[in-house]
Amino acid sequence: LETSSVENSHMGGNMTLIEKAKSIAAEFEYTPEQARAGVKEFLRLMDVGLSNDGEAMTMIPTYVTKVPNGTEEGVYLAVDLGGTNFRVCSITLKGDTTFSIQQSKVAIPKALMVSDSKSLFSFLAKNIAEFVKEHHSDHFAEDATHHLHLGFTFSFPVDQKAVNKGYLIRWTKGFDIPDAIGKDVCALLQAEIDILGLPVVVAALVNDTVGTLMARSYTSPGKTGTLLGAIFGTGTNGAYVEKLSRITKMTKPGANVGEYDKSTGEMVVNTEWGSFDNDMKVLPDTPYDRALDKNSVNPGIQMFEKRVSGMFLGEILRNAVLALKESHNIFSTATIKTDSALYTPWSLDTSVLSYIEADETPNYLVTRETIQKEMGVYGTTVEEAEAIKTIVHAIGKRSARLSAVTIAAIVLATGKLGNAPKPNTQSAESSDTKDLSFIEQGINAIVTAVLGKPDAAPLVDAPAPTSESPVKADKAISEDDIIDIG
Ligand code: BGC
Ligand code: MG
Repeated sequence: LETSSVENSHMGGNMTLIEKAKSIAAEFEYTPEQARAGVKEFLRLMDVGLSNDGEAMTMIPTYVTKVPNGTEEGVYLAVDLGGTNFRVCSITLKGDTTFSIQQSKVAIPKALMVSDSKSLFSFLAKNIAEFVKEHHSDHFAEDATHHLHLGFTFSFPVDQKAVNKGYLIRWTKGFDIPDAIGKDVCALLQAEIDILGLPVVVAALVNDTVGTLMARSYTSPGKTGTLLGAIFGTGTNGAYVEKLSRITKMTKPGANVGEYDKSTGEMVVNTEWGSFDNDMKVLPDTPYDRALDKNSVNPGIQMFEKRVSGMFLGEILRNAVLALKESHNIFSTATIKTDSALYTPWSLDTSVLSYIEADETPNYLVTRETIQKEMGVYGTTVEEAEAIKTIVHAIGKRSARLSAVTIAAIVLATGKLGNAPKPNTQSAESSDTKDLSFIEQGINAIVTAVLGKPDAAPLVDAPAPTSESPVKADKAISEDDIIDIG
């Protein structure tokens, strides 16, 4: 058994299985006080990252100084290297906030995620070749000067030096291709495209959060604009529009920056909030999180992401179930397949948590079916299913609340929501409780939106908005206005 990988065996004492499950669930509690401290620390680290190079929460200047307004036109290629899939698309922007799209998608072979850069990028180029041959054969005509412009969505942190140049800082989400670190990923892709002789030029490099922000800006230009491009997928991250005057690391003497248009006074910043609080000052921590981190390809990095996003929640659950097995011998009357996902690190998909969380059937029928199908455990009891469901809910709730912290902080920092306070740490530091009450209201609203039902346990009993409340909760959070789920 893998149980020894989870420190602290939590011997059950006289607790029943359900009591023990509840006590594990309690370890995932994330209180209003913690959320408030989280928002404060997030605001502080935003400032730190905007003024210094090389910070964990990197606050990357993207060289995108203007977002679309819906009038843009033309045919473009786009590719998206995410954590799980590679997509190739051809997009026709019609200039009236609408577009049409053709796309293909392929799962990235696991072996390529831990290979060498040549293997990965030649695989990408081959997929682009197939797509272009199928949808744009006209571009292979004699006059090959008319190249298709390609936007490269690359869902990992790069040190951007121009709109089409960015050097890989680190891999995340289980990727580990050491020779690519420090290389310009645009150049790596272009080289493989050129080897295949494709009429394609890599014209822009964007993080997925930046692409999300820009796509939303094109489709809903509106008066308020788009506040945030946020991804809660395999990994998590967000990008927003920042004032150039606040990105002080770009204007420091000796700063190594490329050319950019200063006339708009703004630039999109990719926060890389997956590495928020790698120092673990305010993030919640459990033995199950620690076991996950220890067994990851990047211990000590992406500590926020490891508590929030899709790649990790299944593994947290697996660790917690193993602890239940050690202390209370859960599944003692069941049959466990020898190749059960319980015994295989990283093999429990986050969808398992979704199925179990959504289960409202009598006797937890769906939960028991899911445990059978996804964990290879046959013949679970109702009590065992209830124990697992209790833990699943706790992991999901903590993830949702942590997600809300980032959004609340960006809302505050940008001051975009009417008369929200100014975005510096001092004001957050010196804020009294009354000032912060609307953060909690906002967080409540977001948690509800993320978990999708009102009984998702409000973080606090939101006080009724008063005329003194800086922002009313219902105005603060309209999913339509601020979030685009990529
Ligand atoms: C990466 C980000 C990316 C996010 C969502 C994180 O692991 O560091 O660059 O935006 O995943 O895909
Ligand atoms: Mg993606």
